[in-house]
Amino acid sequence: MYIADCHADTLSRLLILEEDEMSLMRSEPRHHSDFPRMQQADLRLQVFSIFTMPYEAGHYGAVRSLQMMQIYQRDLTQHPELVLVQQKADLADFESSDKALYGIFSMEGASPLCGDLKMLDVFYRQGLRAIGLTWNHRNELADGLGVQSSYGLTPFGREVIQRMNQLGMLVDLAHINEAGFWEAMELSSAPVVVSHANARALCDHRRNMYDPQLDALKAKDGFIGICFETSFLNANPAEASLDDVIRHIDYICERIGPEHIAFGSDYDGIQATPRGLEDVSCFPHVLERLAALGYSESDRRKIAYENVLRVYRAVLPDTSQI
Ligand SMILES: [Zn+2]
Repeated sequence: MYIADCHADTLSRLLILEEDEMSLMRSEPRHHSDFPRMQQADLRLQVFSIFTMPYEAGHYGAVRSLQMMQIYQRDLTQHPELVLVQQKADLADFESSDKALYGIFSMEGASPLCGDLKMLDVFYRQGLRAIGLTWNHRNELADGLGVQSSYGLTPFGREVIQRMNQLGMLVDLAHINEAGFWEAMELSSAPVVVSHANARALCDHRRNMYDPQLDALKAKDGFIGICFETSFLNANPAEASLDDVIRHIDYICERIGPEHIAFGSDYDGIQATPRGLEDVSCFPHVLERLAALGYSESDRRKIAYENVLRVYRAVLPDTSQI
């Protein structure tokens, strides 16, 4: 069964290697993920996080982001089995094509836009199709949940969401504070997602979603990507395992249904991995466990990749021309 993963930081790992090592196609055992292991797992869609640290904000962050995107773009020119998804048609034959990997660029924290709406179009033309509005800190759009505030979106944050809706880009609300979450939910005319987080009711971490937030994702026809960060899975992170991933899936499935769950592993962004999910090749273990628990094939397929396809197909533009 194919797998779609909505969040991994592999490109930012590759960016700090030597020039001749900067390719997804090489086996790279120091990382959680690379193309050969994606293939092993039948992982066919990867949303590549374009992540920059708070100290890389603004223009430097823009440069770093473009360099990260270039890594996959360079691989694309040499490997016809790779796809960069930019418009609806790019996903049309996802299940039947002879392609091996569908990549999507998603910026994590929008400070590389430099507070300038024109930069959104610049990044769009480079293939960017999703944005996590904030990371944990405050930026030009909103406050991350690491900021003690009840401020919501800034006027620029509102402009960005409206322009993203026009262009056909997916709004991601992982990391944003609660005020920003609810304002963005209200404002976006298209489905929104939380690409990597878990259930707050099971693990009281600030990055996890409260039940009403899960309900809102369902109402907006989005999804939450189950995250393998150990501190989001278990109050005792050292104990986190595949069992916890299943617990969170069970809970969220019970609450909002299998149509609104996906994976957002955060491989190559997390320091520790849960027992049983040590790297990207372990993904099928989750599906095997769900099958053993009686999840139907149709529900497993939704969680594994169909929900991600549904949402991106709804949001992406008919044509990438602007
Ligand atoms: Zn993150």
